[in-house]
Amino acid sequence: MKAVTVVGAGFAALTAVKSLRSRMPDAEITLIAPSAEFIYYPSLIWVPSGLRRAEDLRVDLTDWLNAQGVRFRPGTVQGLRDGGRVVVTGTGEVANDALLIASGGRFLKGLPGIEHALTICQGLPAAQAIKARMDGLAGGTLAFGFGTNPKEPSAMRGGPMFELLFGMDTWLRRQGQRDKFRLVFFNAATEPGKRLGDKAVVGLLAEMARRGIDTHLGHKPTAFHADRVETEGGAVAADMILFMPGMTGPAWAEQSGLTLSEGGFFKADVHCQVAGAERVYVAGDAGSYPGPDWMPKQAHMADLQAATAAENLALALHGRPPAARFRTELVCIVDTLDSGILVFRNEKRALILPPLKVMHWAKRAFERLYLRPYRKAAR
Ligand SMILES: Cc1cc2nc3c(=O)[nH]c(=O)nc-3n(C[C@H](O)[C@H](O)[C@H](O)COP(=O)(O)OP(=O)(O)OC[C@H]3O[C@@H](n4cnc5c(N)ncnc54)[C@H](O)[C@@H]3O)c2cc1C
Repeated sequence: MKAVTVVGAGFAALTAVKSLRSRMPDAEITLIAPSAEFIYYPSLIWVPSGLRRAEDLRVDLTDWLNAQGVRFRPGTVQGLRDGGRVVVTGTGEVANDALLIASGGRFLKGLPGIEHALTICQGLPAAQAIKARMDGLAGGTLAFGFGTNPKEPSAMRGGPMFELLFGMDTWLRRQGQRDKFRLVFFNAATEPGKRLGDKAVVGLLAEMARRGIDTHLGHKPTAFHADRVETEGGAVAADMILFMPGMTGPAWAEQSGLTLSEGGFFKADVHCQVAGAERVYVAGDAGSYPGPDWMPKQAHMADLQAATAAENLALALHGRPPAARFRTELVCIVDTLDSGILVFRNEKRALILPPLKVMHWAKRAFERLYLRPYRKAAR
């Protein structure tokens, strides 16, 4: 019986488990993660407004993993031995015939004073902290921005910051408090969100103008303070700073002995195989993949890569060459709490729709559908 290890319990890991199990009913699959729970990140943006509570977005995976015949091994991966054949965790070692890495990315914390910024990418506690700070503010300036990884400029995540910005504007209007707050969006680029497509930049900036949101564009942030954001083009006063830093690979990547990209991610080929490593695959935010510079670090992309990695892993265990490749596709609904802006991009076209109420409801429906199999198993 072949032993396969999956690292992580996020979007890529769970999609990989489903695909591996359907291709290899007899394989011994072990999943290693700090806890057997799935966090649905896309809905974190609704925690500050109270539309979601932290516990709504956390799903216990114990029963789902049992139903999939997966052995759960609690632990945090620290490194690898023997080119990936042994995974070293804080709670012992796990041997495998093939390895699929899906332990997500990490956010760069290099900017001085970063502790003064709230970064929602840190998960449920960060989203709750934003809510607590908002609840305590009677007025002032809220500054929103996102950064990149200078060594791998595509390693950024701007979408949720646009969502927080527009969502906060809607929420303040609903409370009758909007006139007490100034909202400012700051970014090093003059065309923020360009990876979403040229039309998307125009659309997002137009939405900011329509909502009376100020911008401070084309100036790189250099430091954060309790009361301001310093940039190369002057300071932005702020009573609360919301910032999404650029991304890099997981902390344990450097101890893995595997090939890393410039930006610190596991370097993969078009088959999601880690460069130069035998039967080691990567999917989702942990990897750096060949393709267009707008390839998103998104849940949808993670799912596409996970299915590809799992298929090629199964083929390799049957002694066959890789055959699957993933398509590059960017699909997101930039939610505004009362509507949503659909953005789509693939190799052939880029599309953005104006804000539509139905898209807000589509995003909510998608969350329910995506989580259904995991919640059903947990009942
Ligand atoms: C606020 C926010 C909003 C977003 N909105 C959207 C959206 O609307 N649409 C969209 O498509 N994407 C969105 N994303 C991006 C999306 O959530 C990520 O791209 C996606 O989670 C990546 O999946 P992943 O499986 O690669 O990593 P993750 O989902 O981050 O999962 C990583 C897993 O690995 C585990 N892990 C970490 N380190 C270790 C270790 N050392 N050992 C073992 N396990 C480890 C973690 O516990 C976790 O289970 C959003 C992200 C954020 C933060």
